[in-house]
Amino acid sequence: MPGKAPGDETIRPQRLDDFIGQDDLRSNLSVYLQAARDRCQAMDHALFYGNPGLGKTTLAQIMASELGVNIVPTSGPVLERGGDLAAILSNLGARDILFVDEIHRMPAAVEEILYPAMEDFKLDLVIGQGPAARTVKIDLEPFTLVGATTRLGLLTSPLRDRFGVILRLEFYAPDDLARIVKRAAAILGINITDDGALEIGRRARGTPRIANRLLRRVRDFASVHGNGLVDAEAASQALGRMDVDEHGLDQMDRKILEVIIHHYGGGPVGVKTIAVACSEEVRTIEEIYEPFLIQRGFIKRTPRGRVATARAYKHLNIF
Ligand code: ADP
Repeated sequence: MPGKAPGDETIRPQRLDDFIGQDDLRSNLSVYLQAARDRCQAMDHALFYGNPGLGKTTLAQIMASELGVNIVPTSGPVLERGGDLAAILSNLGARDILFVDEIHRMPAAVEEILYPAMEDFKLDLVIGQGPAARTVKIDLEPFTLVGATTRLGLLTSPLRDRFGVILRLEFYAPDDLARIVKRAAAILGINITDDGALEIGRRARGTPRIANRLLRRVRDFASVHGNGLVDAEAASQALGRMDVDEHGLDQMDRKILEVIIHHYGGGPVGVKTIAVACSEEVRTIEEIYEPFLIQRGFIKRTPRGRVATARAYKHLNIF
């Protein structure tokens, strides 16, 4: 996953009221949080899915602070052995949140330990080996598992079915991103105009993490080449120098479109072939670049591969 920029923690919203956009998700989540608080119970297990940088980790942390409980963060690939997860689970306090990022990458053996833990707050541990092996049941405190994934389709159905709440994060509209940028600018002490924030919001691929990153870089250009004020013109010039075009596409996005159009006659072409031609990993293309290009109508996914749309030809000035 793309690295989190230093200072991310200072601008990460702490309360649900500071979380901008995703209105339906936010209002539903606030009901679930309120209900759990009123009943003094652990909230039902929740799964967030959506592209990287849309706010899954932020929401997990917000849930913990709204519920007044601890959050223990881990991630699917880090949990290599069942024992790793068992140790974490048995140390959770009542109603604590266990946050598992990239939950679709958790090994199958670890996942099996999770089922009874999620369902009955019990651990089934096998002690010893061979004929002497026996199972011991350990009671856990009631806890809430919060999972995050970029690929809902890669979760096994027994795991997916054990989440009481499944919430999808969408790409953000430019004006929501502009509000996110203005909020971050205020925290970081950056002088920005409304149209400067909107210019960044329009070109941030619908993603708060990218908007905040662009804000920092635009600030660098504005303070070195200008008077430090981020207005529409300063933002536009800086984004141009960073090769982020007016639709928010960067070099790699354009390269993907060019490969499909110039090398493969507009498609269909398989994602593996695109990845090799762009010297990029298949997973990165599938999880980071492609969803945005599809959502904005630059490419289509067909059973035989990816196809460039008329919009992509127009965008690259190919007629
Ligand atoms: P994910 O876990 O989905 O990859 P994060 O929760 O780490 O994404 O979000 C990336 C950054 O974007 C966070 O540091 C946070 O500051 C910012 N962010 C995400 N969503 C929002 C939002 N709705 N409002 C304000 N800032 C947000």
